[in-house]
Amino acid sequence: MRIDILTLFPDMCRTYLGESIIGRAISAGRVEIHCHNIRDYTLNKQKQVDDAPYGGRQGMVMNAQPIYDCFMAVCGMTGARPHLIYMSPAGKTLTQQRIKELSEMPNIAILCGHYEGVDQRVIDEIVDEEISIGDYVVTGGELPALILTDGISRMCEGVLAEKAGYEEESHYNGLLEYPQYTRPEVWRGRQVPEVLRSGHHANIQKWKLQQSEQRTRERRPDMWQRYLESKEKWNDPKGGRE
Ligand code: SAM
Repeated sequence: MRIDILTLFPDMCRTYLGESIIGRAISAGRVEIHCHNIRDYTLNKQKQVDDAPYGGRQGMVMNAQPIYDCFMAVCGMTGARPHLIYMSPAGKTLTQQRIKELSEMPNIAILCGHYEGVDQRVIDEIVDEEISIGDYVVTGGELPALILTDGISRMCEGVLAEKAGYEEESHYNGLLEYPQYTRPEVWRGRQVPEVLRSGHHANIQKWKLQQSEQRTRERRPDMWQRYLESKEKWNDPKGGRE
């Protein structure tokens, strides 16, 4: 899978992407990630990439032209037009399900806004989808783009040692994950649950599911409701179909 990030601050992204699991995945060729500096595509001598907004307001808006030219250059490099996502607080909220779907695409590009955002005309011209990381605003699209890139990369073949690495985790199957423990067996008088030390695989699996269900029911009633509905659908002999 190839991901191209279009940003005014490529080093911000490169620093994060060079480390830990994603850094190793890139070195091993499991995922290909390129960061492009939108400023390299400005046509003016001052290398200006933003301007005052029409309609009078404080702050600056990113110009359409360098973003468009940067994306066209990326299309030339990849040989196919990538699915372009604009990270935006006005986008659809990111979910694990959408991350999974995007990880199945061969080629995506991510546009990071900054300042007050991006000229709407370039969004209308080239953006396929707008994604938000939540109902709050951060200063730039770089952190949101890295969240998306990280989430997608870890689902690519060979990035995590085993598929169970993500299949048992929160949100993958509509539940929150069960609590985790490591050594020592007793810490400040708190013991690791007996069942996890029993070596009885079936009982351990049963405990994990019970704990996941209990956590989801207590912490996320919205998820719990959806989980119950999907369980009902699968238990229905018609499979939820009329
Ligand atoms: N004026 C914009 C608004 O009110 O919707 C916010 C601009 S924000 C300060 C600058 C950039 O940060 C945005 O263009 C976007 O790329 C990114 N950004 C900020 N919050 C975000 C969020 N919740 N999800 C995704 N991207 C976000």
